[in-house]
Amino acid sequence: MKAIRVHEFGGPQVMKLEDVPDLKPGPGQVVVRVHAAGVNPYDTYMRTGVYAVKPPLPYTPGSDGAGVVEAVGEGVNQVKPGDRVYTAKTVTGAYAEYALTLESQVHPLPAKITYAQGAGVWVPYGTAYHALYQCTRARAGETLLVHGASGGVGIAAVQMARAMGLIVLGTAGTEKGLELVKREGAHHIFNHTQPGYLEQILQATGGLGADLILEMLANVNLGQDLKLLAPHGRVVVIGSRGDVIIAPRDLMMRRGSIHAFTLWGITEAEEKEIHAGLIAGLENGTLRPIVGKELPLAEAPRAHKEILEPGAFGKIVLVP
Ligand code: NAP
Repeated sequence: MKAIRVHEFGGPQVMKLEDVPDLKPGPGQVVVRVHAAGVNPYDTYMRTGVYAVKPPLPYTPGSDGAGVVEAVGEGVNQVKPGDRVYTAKTVTGAYAEYALTLESQVHPLPAKITYAQGAGVWVPYGTAYHALYQCTRARAGETLLVHGASGGVGIAAVQMARAMGLIVLGTAGTEKGLELVKREGAHHIFNHTQPGYLEQILQATGGLGADLILEMLANVNLGQDLKLLAPHGRVVVIGSRGDVIIAPRDLMMRRGSIHAFTLWGITEAEEKEIHAGLIAGLENGTLRPIVGKELPLAEAPRAHKEILEPGAFGKIVLVP
């Protein structure tokens, strides 16, 4: 079988498509024939070797895949060969023709969701779900700003929050991205590259500010977010690529709070709840992963370069 392999940490070019031995499931394990693998920003941080989670070398990147169960090991009873599934983490990596997983890492992929869409479920939708339901307990009627709404997590959050009854404000950096954010459910859209957009956001809330902000680029925006918060408002730091200066008094005046998490740190019980919620949303059509670009598996280096560039449009997925 073919798989992307990383033998040394470094730039996108360290990812090579190679032949590797076929996989056999051990007890409690599943082999999935991967039809699509989702590319997440953390895959790029991990590849450089400076991320909090540093895999032993060589390794195959990717936690998010979708495909068909090929074989199951002894004791596996939740899935059988032929089942359509999406993966939430794997043992051997999703950027490959086949991936070995634990039984607990595969979840049923509803019939109306394509494999490419299924590859965009776990990290983006799991993150949005944890931020809205578990971390901040968002309530219908609250005003939410998704700061960075055009990418994987942002689109997931917009769809989910709209279905939950929140008033959704979303930002993007291109016209195409803005149209997508609007189409997927935002009531108001703003271009985060345009001067004056923060004032426009405040105006759109009637000067009251947002009850909730999901922040995709905290090192750039956190200081300003605190000035956009309503009384008792909460900011959730989801993405950050550096340090930032904030004015704590902005929080104090509003009795506001800053929350932060990584999906790696959630509990087993939280994860179980997340999958139940996501599968229901995928089935009933409120959650519709957007695939902006499909690339062949061999083009993983290009995918890693492009995911960090401006102009997000849902997900980039790799097709083995
Ligand atoms: P993505 O698909 O690459 O999307 C990136 C988003 O950030 C796009 O909407 C992009 O908008 C936006 N952005 C760019 N410049 C911005 C600015 N100045 N202000 C606000 N937004 C800006 O990435 P993703 O998968 O959605 O992930 C978003 C971030 O969250 C990444 O940093 C990722 O590492 C992190 N993340 C964290 C967790 C966790 O567990 N905490 C989980 C998933 C993701 P345009 O391209 O339209 O400008």
